[in-house]
Amino acid sequence: MTAKGASQDLTQAIKEIALRSGAALVGVASIDRWDPQPPYGDRAPRGHHPRDFVPEAKSVIVIAQPILNAVMDAPAVLADMDIELIPPDIKYPYLEVLYNTTGHHLQDEMLQFIGQILGQHLMSSGFDAMVFPTTGIHPRLPDASIPEKQIWQGPSRQWSDQFSPFRYSPGPFSHRHAATRAGLGEFGYNNIVLTPQFGPRNRFNSIITDAELVADPLISQPICLRDDCLLCQKACYMGAITMRDDPQVKDYRSVPKVDKARIFIDTPAKTDPVLCNSRRDRIAEAPIRGDCARVCPVPKERTHLPKRLQALMEEWKSRP
Ligand code: SF4
Repeated sequence: MTAKGASQDLTQAIKEIALRSGAALVGVASIDRWDPQPPYGDRAPRGHHPRDFVPEAKSVIVIAQPILNAVMDAPAVLADMDIELIPPDIKYPYLEVLYNTTGHHLQDEMLQFIGQILGQHLMSSGFDAMVFPTTGIHPRLPDASIPEKQIWQGPSRQWSDQFSPFRYSPGPFSHRHAATRAGLGEFGYNNIVLTPQFGPRNRFNSIITDAELVADPLISQPICLRDDCLLCQKACYMGAITMRDDPQVKDYRSVPKVDKARIFIDTPAKTDPVLCNSRRDRIAEAPIRGDCARVCPVPKERTHLPKRLQALMEEWKSRP
């Protein structure tokens, strides 16, 4: 339903500019979608709500670009091979940089660029707009002698009442939560947003504005295959992904029960960022980052996968 006063023309113009500037997907969320929603009643943390950035915010525009399939898959497949010209002890860092450059930094920069263009258009139309970095930010530490890990990760650090419960340096605004609220997709069991077009292979960014735009409908059909799949959680080398109702892994995100019959506007799962980020410290031959997305069979099963994921996929396909 179109909110009274929402501008069809401005919404149309914003979407056209976003797509013309390089966004592959664009959606609009109305501000009321940040009211806590059933079943978990999740709320944006203080300082991370749209109205903390734009007090009269009425809409959030979400833009996305895909991670290209070969960009996601090839570095992980190459990790199974001896690569000519690359010394063995450099192979993993080399492949990580290949993936991060083409599957992360590229989209991060482009989505920030598109956000600025949309922000300028909104400003010239008489509205306020807030734009964001695509990913987390890493502030300069007050005491450079304290390792960054110690600041965020908690128990071993000296300010035990001040560390972030997130246990990593978060972004200022959750583009994943904005993406589901803008009708672009739903969360999967991998704690990543899946879109019908690209599965979990997306990067997102958001623009908050006080312009009243026409909101897109929320996703109405599940995208994640749920208990019929579970490939992402099996693929995680570190066991870093758990469901929010797992009684063995209780923290501030825990809920009594995950309702699998609903669309996952809020995430059903949680990731331990310390475990995820320390995989190479613990296991020299840990896979290239992203197996929890790489193995996902949405929107279609991938075939160019490293041997370990291929074996998981074959096992899944042969299930009774
Ligand atoms: S791998 Fe399966 S369970 Fe995990 S997000 Fe994708 S569809 Fe859902």
